[in-house]
Amino acid sequence: MAQRTFSIIKPDAVRKGYTGAILAEIDKAGFKIAAIRRQSISNEQAQGFYAVHKERPFFQDLCAFMSSGPLVLMVLEKDNAIADLRKLMGATNPANAEEGTIRKKFAGSIQENAIHGSDAEETAAFEIGYWFAGYELI
Ligand code: GDP
Repeated sequence: MAQRTFSIIKPDAVRKGYTGAILAEIDKAGFKIAAIRRQSISNEQAQGFYAVHKERPFFQDLCAFMSSGPLVLMVLEKDNAIADLRKLMGATNPANAEEGTIRKKFAGSIQENAIHGSDAEETAAFEIGYWFAGYELI
């Protein structure tokens, strides 16, 4: 059965005009867009989303970055969606990302790295529920 994952086109990529190109990569890789919304988020919303990282030294910078401009929130669906999206994204630091990955093509730095994707089933469930209501996912 198809699996769902949660993804964000981050503010750096939206600002640079890469939204359409990243959506095309996601589409080409066989993902179905189950829900999508472009919006800006507050620093507090970013802190809640990244709560697992709150002890890490880059937490404040990361939350400031994520609330610095519009982003695109998405629920994506396909077989093996969680692992396949992580592969399509590439390494966190674009300097280490493989050729052909979204971060290799579109990311500028380890922080401003163009895209988010859930890393496990439990985080996908939390992240989808954090940003989308059940009725948006029918
Ligand atoms: P991901 O799962 O590949 O997104 O990476 P992580 O879960 O480890 O980190 C979450 C996000 O925090 C990353 O996507 C980056 O935007 C940011 N980040 C991770 N590591 C660093 C770092 O060492 N410095 C800074 N400034 N940001 C980082």
